[in-house]
Formats: sequence, structure tokens, C-alpha cells
Amino acid sequence: WAAAPPTLREVFLAGRRHGEATFLVYEDDRASFEAFARAVLALSADLIRGGLRPGDRVAIAMRNLPEWPVAFFATLLAGAIAAPLNAWWTGPELEYGLIDSGATVAILDPERFDRIAERRQACPALARILLARGTEPGAESLEGIIGPVSAWASLPPGELPEVPLAPEDLATLFYTSGTTGRSKGAMGTHRNGACAVMAHPYSAARAALRRGEPVPVPDPRAPQKVMLVSVPFFHVTGCFATLVSALSRGSRLVLMRRWEIARALDLIERERCTSAGGVPTIAWQLLDGREAGTHDLSSLEAVTYGGAPAPAELARRLRAAFPHAAPATGWGMTETSGTFTHHMGEEYLNRPDSCGPPLPVCEARIVDPEGRALPPGEIGELQVKGPNVVVGYWNRPAETAAAFRDGWLATGDLARMDEEGFITIVDRARDMLIRGGENIYCCEVENALHEHPAVVDAAVVAIPHPTLGEEPGAVVALARGQDTSEEELKAFVAARLAAFKVPVRILFYDEILPRNPSGKILKSELRKLF
Ligand code: ATP
Ligand code: MG
Repeated sequence: WAAAPPTLREVFLAGRRHGEATFLVYEDDRASFEAFARAVLALSADLIRGGLRPGDRVAIAMRNLPEWPVAFFATLLAGAIAAPLNAWWTGPELEYGLIDSGATVAILDPERFDRIAERRQACPALARILLARGTEPGAESLEGIIGPVSAWASLPPGELPEVPLAPEDLATLFYTSGTTGRSKGAMGTHRNGACAVMAHPYSAARAALRRGEPVPVPDPRAPQKVMLVSVPFFHVTGCFATLVSALSRGSRLVLMRRWEIARALDLIERERCTSAGGVPTIAWQLLDGREAGTHDLSSLEAVTYGGAPAPAELARRLRAAFPHAAPATGWGMTETSGTFTHHMGEEYLNRPDSCGPPLPVCEARIVDPEGRALPPGEIGELQVKGPNVVVGYWNRPAETAAAFRDGWLATGDLARMDEEGFITIVDRARDMLIRGGENIYCCEVENALHEHPAVVDAAVVAIPHPTLGEEPGAVVALARGQDTSEEELKAFVAARLAAFKVPVRILFYDEILPRNPSGKILKSELRKLF
């Protein structure tokens, strides 16, 4: 980690060295690494001319357009802090993000602009709005500064702004998904981001050493990797594990305006993508696509997913459907700048319940409610430590003090760890329900439901009960053309789990269950169904 680049500026410079190779593909637009770098420097200079100072916040709210990464790096190179806002947010939520971050500049696409146009007065700090595409009264055109994507290559080479940047300076305020409460801004430093990007090659090295194989050395002449990007850039995995790592490693990113499986299959075939994935739901859809056999998906070398529980069944089915693509998964949080544990290939297939060991130089421990470390195999709260763990929550001293203690971050996830350090997430502490004194981990019941061939999606929630406290209820979605009944599913779970864990009611949902953009099922919505 001493070799990690000190700031994300070095990562940007490393990316520029990939020159004329294609970096971003979006619909008919293509931008090389060099063209991208020129657009970044042009925008960064303009932001500084417009009065942006080190430490100021720039809110970025748009879909995965090629302008997103330009806005992100332009902000960082100016010494300012990027505050990516969730593009799925409604007007009031975007307003919250703008006020909470205190952004002085917002870079938006037209849809986000429409959502906040009337709320501008509520955000007194907001002095400047740049509109990524098109023109609107009250906003400056970003194209007026950097031109359309096709013209980035003809921009002047540009100069790196002369602002001091230190590894401990704040670089990012990514907002947590808001699954357990209001979204919190996680204060990430340049060092956090740079270390997050370094993680993956080390993880491959660790896996090789564990198998007694030589550490793989990347071959500089190897063909360029092509990643289909399904994860939004405003999420840490979309940004660090995808965008920033691709930049540093010279990989190509194929962007999508919105996730749509049919379009994704077309793009994998057309662009010969070597990796795809995102949240587990997307992996399930790719699996369906493969089984339908309509597209040539033979270019895929990896199908990766994380961010939400993935049943062991998913890894097994992916292995069968894509024999040449290694399934890979991981666990992470906004607060760990993305991936914190990583698990892939045979090692994963041998322990498909686990999300892998922590990345090298990251540490994890399992503690009881009093904060005492527990021995291997016991379930408790997962606590983590590492160079990718952010320094706290923006504007939230109480929440920061509660979660960040003695150098450890309390994750709020229940987990166990085996003798070799492999972690298995059991559930969120909040997702455990207690039925007459017996603990039920929703995830375990969901996994059992997933083993049923007709089930494509499942969520278990607590139904209040007058004497038992809570009982498990399930909502499931069935695969196309498949059928089953509530009674059959109950019997199926009963054959696998203790009787008290069998859902007392199972509802059928017509489509994939509602999720937030990070792939987490909106259990609050589903509870209402009971
Ligand atoms: P908030 O903190 O605002 O309530 P959130 O925790 O959903 O929202 P994120 O930071 O996007 O926000 O998500 C991190 C959480 O996602 C983890 O704490 C964990 O509960 C869940 N998660 C991530 N990866 C996995 C995984 N591989 N398996 C199970 N759960 C996962
Ligand atoms: Mg969280």
C-alpha cells in the first residue's frame, strides 16, 4: 500500500498514458483516454476560473453519461470535493443532497435539472449549474465548455491545475443508499479512493498465493478489457471499482443510459465485453439471457456482482452457464469505498456462501454486542479497518462517533468468519427478526427460497405478531413460464430449514422485487403488502 498512488490525481495521470485507446463508449460516441483527459482539464480550468476553491463541493447528478467521469475528475483536480448524488432521487431528495453537501456547483443532466429547477431557492450555496446536455434557462451549457464527446479529442492538451493535493484531503462525498435511514455523505479522502482502486490486483495475487500458484503478472500486450457498466457511477462500486479502476488499468467502459437486459445482451455481443455484472439481480438476468441463447456472450471472462446478498445458487448456475467466465463477488459499503472483501473463481465456488476474505491490508473482526471479539464461526457484528475506510459522515458527528470507534468501523452487518478469514454475511443487524425468542436471519430463508427452480427473486420480512413478536413473511417472483404455489414453497423451505423459519405467508409478486439503485430490495415497501 506504500506503492498506492498518493492521490486520485496520479490515477488520472496514469489513465492519460493509455492515450488513443478507447476509454468510453456511449451509444454512437467514443472517447479515447487522451480525449477524456483533455475534457477533464478543460472543465477543471473552467471551474477554477468560475471561482471553485479547494474544499468546495461539486454535486454531480446524472445518468451514466460520458460527462459524469469528466465532471468527477475535473472537480478532484481543482482540489474540490465531488458529491455524486443518486440519479434516481426525486426533487426533494436531490434538494436534500444539494443542501447537505453545501454544493456551490451542480453538474446535471436535463432530467435532474428539471427535478431541481424549482428548488434552487432552497439551496442558497448553489451558485452555478452546468447542464451536461442541451440548454435551459438558468443553467450554463457544459458543451459550451468542453464540446460534444466527438470533439473532446480536438480540445487543447490542457494543463494540470496547480492546486496542492494531499492524500488526506477529502475527495468524495458518496451518499449511502439510505436503506436503513436517511442517506449519509461518506467523507472519502484521496487516499481512500486511490487505495480502493489498488485493491483488485492484490486480491487476485492473494487468491493465487493461497492456491500455491504464482502471482499473475498483467501482460502489457494483453487485449484491452471491456467492461459493460451497469452500476451507476454515483455508487462507490460504479465509481471506484469500475470507472477509476478502468481508467488506471486502461480498460474500456461501455456505458448504458439505463439498465435494460435486452440492450445489455446486444452490447455484450457487439462490443465483445469481457466483463459484466453489478448487483446480483443483474447477474440473474444475464443468466436468463445466456439460457435463452439469443446472443453470443462468449467474450465474457467474468461475471461479477456484490452489494446485496447473493444466494449460493447464483454462483453455481453462473458456473454452469458460463464455463469460461469466473463468477466473482464481494462485500462492501459506501463507507469502505466499495469492495472490501473479494471472492472469485474456484475459491468462490468452493465456498459459495462466503463473500470472501478482506482485501490485503484490510482487517475485519466479528464482535459481540459489548464489542468483544468473537472466535471463528460465531455470529456477531462485522467491524472493519483499512486504508479504503472513509473518515466519517459529513455533517453528522453523532453518527460518526457511533460507527467509527477506535480505528474500526461498525458496519451494522451480522457476519461470521472462518479460521482462514473468509467472511459470510448473515444479514443486516436490522434484517434479523425474532420469532418468540428465536432469531431468524431473513437472508437464510431467502436463500432457501432461491433454491427452488421457479423462484427468481425472494425477500423475507417481519410480520408483526401479538404474542410471538414477529413472524417471517415472504414475497417471491417467479421465473417466466414457471408456476408453484404457496403451499409447495412452504414445504420446500420446511425441507431445508427449521420449522420456525418457514414463512407463515408467501405472496407472489408479478415482477422482480422493487429495489433501490444499489440493488437492495426495498423491504419497507414489501412490509406494506402484509
Ligand atoms: P444506509 O447505510 O444508508 O442504510 P446501505 O447500507 O444500503 O444504506 P450501501 O453503503 O450502499 O448503503 O450498502 C452497504 C450495505 O450493503 C452493507 O452494509 C450490506 O448490508 C450490504 N451488502 C453489500 N455487499 C453485500 C454482500 N455481498 N452480501 C450481503 N450484503 C451486502
Ligand atoms: Mg449502510
